[in-house]
Amino acid sequence: MDRLEQFLVVYVRLTIIDSRSDGFLMEGFTQDTVEGPLTTCDVLVIGAGPGGGNAALHSARAGLDVILIEDHKEIGTPVHCGECISDVACDNLNLDLPSHVISKRVHGIRVIFPDGTAKKLTEEGYVLEKHLFERWIAEEAIAEGAKLHLSHKLRSMEKQKDENGRFTGWLCDGNGDNFPIQAKVVIDASGVSGVTSRLLDLNPKGKVIAGMQYELLEVPTDGYLDFYIWPQYAEKGYLWMIPKCEGRANVGLVTEDKSRTKKALDEFIENTHFKELTQVSPPWKEKGNPAFGGTIPISGPYELTYDDGLMLVGDAAGFTSPLFEGGSHLALKSAVFAAEVARKRIDEDDLSAEKMSEYQKLWSKEFPPYDKILRGKTALFDLTDDDLSLMARCFPDEMSNMGPHGKIAVCLRILFRRPSLYVKRIIPAMLSFGYSRAKFYGW
Ligand SMILES: Cc1cc2nc3c(=O)[nH]c(=O)nc-3n(C[C@H](O)[C@H](O)[C@H](O)COP(=O)(O)OP(=O)(O)OC[C@H]3O[C@@H](n4cnc5c(N)ncnc54)[C@H](O)[C@@H]3O)c2cc1C
Repeated sequence: MDRLEQFLVVYVRLTIIDSRSDGFLMEGFTQDTVEGPLTTCDVLVIGAGPGGGNAALHSARAGLDVILIEDHKEIGTPVHCGECISDVACDNLNLDLPSHVISKRVHGIRVIFPDGTAKKLTEEGYVLEKHLFERWIAEEAIAEGAKLHLSHKLRSMEKQKDENGRFTGWLCDGNGDNFPIQAKVVIDASGVSGVTSRLLDLNPKGKVIAGMQYELLEVPTDGYLDFYIWPQYAEKGYLWMIPKCEGRANVGLVTEDKSRTKKALDEFIENTHFKELTQVSPPWKEKGNPAFGGTIPISGPYELTYDDGLMLVGDAAGFTSPLFEGGSHLALKSAVFAAEVARKRIDEDDLSAEKMSEYQKLWSKEFPPYDKILRGKTALFDLTDDDLSLMARCFPDEMSNMGPHGKIAVCLRILFRRPSLYVKRIIPAMLSFGYSRAKFYGW
């Protein structure tokens, strides 16, 4: 076989989609070895989560030669996500979701405070089948010409320079038949593991919060996501019931008390109406403990999200929303910015860190005000259960319509009932709910 034939065989294998399995990408695509010289590309994307898939899609759409690698043997599993995304985020991202990735249409969030007071943030959105969503994005990227290599784990990377000391690209190595790979630009979408920060000593290890959930059946719902701010189970975090199709729901929590994650979730279920419901393994999980989850970065965006020919997107860059810790929307959008900058830098043949810094300007102009929300969240978790419930009782039943006057009225109502809350920074705590409904991304 000559080189072109070899390439075509591998390409066709990479892009086969099993029609018998709802568009699941088949395992084992990458078992063929491409012999011969170094694998080269314009853009190497590390990790095929939402950030990586979208980076590959937008880079390929921009006409770049793209390789997407994923260390697992299939995309999207294990799922480490509550799986929800708002309409505002989908609009901002121009996402036209196919029906097979949508589990349920939802109306917004209901926040439930320690005494049971419940207030709504109505804003439509979706609960996804997240693994199918991630596979769909990767399939779109492949359709635009990106190559996908599963079971490929990046383990090292080295800068390459020309005779004048000018940066020309990265030489990347790791486990997987197609390594080593030479790329002009690397987009790190490796999630919370933040592989390039680690390999290059770019950013210190950030703080994370632990998340875990179960799938339950026949869960009663009126189409809202239920978010419980109940510190007794979820320290500096919250619990959720995220309804899915056919009565299924994710019931889970995020908590800073990592050692108690599972115990706290089990206790919450035991002490609530969820106790009566059947717990099952989600459809993508064949064996083992039915609980699933992961960790979420909570230190905020990393100091360095770029370097010579390098951009960090999604969780790898610390992009998550500080109040409810969602991150898929920010992963998807940072990937769009990264693809845009990659195209421009390659066209202008200048991959220097100075020029790559445009990426940081793009995301920082649009992303939610992390520090403000974090200040609010910190103040929120300084409140006692009783303070939290009192604050909740002063909110209107529908929080999404609170304009500036409404917010002032709520502040006055709270301070009238408990003036001491002023020094406990009740105002930033209260406003964190408003900021969290960020302009471009929703909840
Ligand atoms: C319990 C829980 C619930 C959540 N709920 C929500 C929610 O409801 N809504 C929401 O928006 N967000 C939610 N999030 C956060 C969301 O899941 C992440 O923010 C989002 O998945 C980040 O996308 P990403 O592409 O940056 O990283 P990831 O989705 O983590 O993808 C990274 C990929 O890179 C791969 N990888 C890692 N290292 C390497 C390597 N060295 N070489 C090759 N590949 C590598 C990984 O296998 C993985 O597939 C939740 C998180 C958790 C833990």
